[in-house]
Amino acid sequence: MLSRTDLRGRAHTAAELRRALPRGGTDIESVLATVAPVVAAVRDDGVRAALDFGARFDGVTPPSVRVPAQVLEQALGAVDPTVRTALEESIRRARIVHADQRRSTTRTEVVPGGSVTEKWIPVARVGLYVPGGNAVYPSSVIMNVVPAQEAGVASLVVASPPQAAHGGWPHPTILAACALLGIDEVWAVGGAQAVALLTYGGTDIGATENSAGAELAPVDLITGPGNIYVTAAKRLCRSVVGIDSEAGPTEIAILADGDADATAVAADLISQAEHDVLAASVLVTDSVDLADRVDAEVAAQVETTRHTERVRTALSGAQSGIVLVDDIDHGIAVVDAYAAEHLEIQTADAPVVADRVRNAGAIFVGRYSPVSLGDYCAGSNHVLPTSGSARHSSGLSVQTFLRGVHIVDYDRAALAEVAPHVVALAQAEDLPAHGDAVTARFVDVPASGSPV
Ligand code: NAD
Repeated sequence: MLSRTDLRGRAHTAAELRRALPRGGTDIESVLATVAPVVAAVRDDGVRAALDFGARFDGVTPPSVRVPAQVLEQALGAVDPTVRTALEESIRRARIVHADQRRSTTRTEVVPGGSVTEKWIPVARVGLYVPGGNAVYPSSVIMNVVPAQEAGVASLVVASPPQAAHGGWPHPTILAACALLGIDEVWAVGGAQAVALLTYGGTDIGATENSAGAELAPVDLITGPGNIYVTAAKRLCRSVVGIDSEAGPTEIAILADGDADATAVAADLISQAEHDVLAASVLVTDSVDLADRVDAEVAAQVETTRHTERVRTALSGAQSGIVLVDDIDHGIAVVDAYAAEHLEIQTADAPVVADRVRNAGAIFVGRYSPVSLGDYCAGSNHVLPTSGSARHSSGLSVQTFLRGVHIVDYDRAALAEVAPHVVALAQAEDLPAHGDAVTARFVDVPASGSPV
């Protein structure tokens, strides 16, 4: 089922490896033409346009776009106690990790009387997109909300698609997760129309009590994963709002040697293929024997998994496959070139190998750290960079919701000392007014520099 790419016996540059490796390439450009009119219509007509697109794409119109407080409370009351306990444990672990990511103010005295302080200020209002198409992701509520709360974001709004099977409200487990986290502003809107509504704001025209007239104030930053339409809309709106990243279809790469457990490797490849027909599952190994055993295991496990067709399509797509390498050193070069969203290390000395990897969204070390653990309950964040963007980007964290502001504070003597250098650089850039702005402060400093 899994295609094979044989890279053995040849030296490749990183660029050659990137071209040789299986990768689907989600063609965001191909849906921009579909998504641009949606964004424009919601910008111009607000909630009414969002409801029209929801009816078309989700097949349902919610009773109101703003989810009433009692619907959130009911969802929390009705959630399966086992699921509630698991959500609470996931929140507890995520909070431990993300609380540790808080940034403290740093003050650097550059010269006596001249300092630069870096202060971290949370974004004021954040819109969190929680997907709800093929699968529903209450875990994504946690992964978005916890770092935002730990960063100190004051105003949080969640948007998630309306579900025909649940009276037009977002999925009840998503609502329960919002209620557990203290989020009371939830809007039943999905896809590109949700991103546009969060960007431009709108007024609810819903019919339920307290909902008509509810205001959705525009946000400053949108975070959260989504499908190709959500991602395209984020790209279109990013000049108006901040976005976290383009977190596309999920990816798993597993670097494994001949002693890896083929049953576990196959299960992990299937677990991520379950997300999406576009999901990528890639095994990188120096063992043909392991490759054969994993192939056989995948074929057997796919027959009994819940989403057989989705998994089969994802695993047989151009984005998935087995890559044969000479040895683990070669494998590290390959996974670095691939820059997977999720990378598992299933080799001897896995912590040592993991430490040598440069490019991955998150790294899962050894037999007992599967990606599924990170999806839900490791404490780490599961909103991670995809499509090779782990070469330059990080997953969601407290940092995503903070802005570092430099506070520059020089006294007269400190400015006088550096003034000739400012003037010289201003003249070199042919921006003399920059230099004049400094010298104007010193009556005793000639325009050409040299304070006295
Ligand atoms: P989604 O909520 O992202 O998308 C559903 C919405 O898509 C619908 O509300 C609808 O409005 C819109 N839509 C559907 N068909 C459309 C069409 N033809 N034209 C315009 N709009 C249309 O949910 P999903 O589809 O399940 O996708 C979730 C994605 O998020 C998956 O690809 C999954 O792998 C990914 N994900 C990624 C991460 C990560 O960290 N990278 C985490 C969780 C999920």
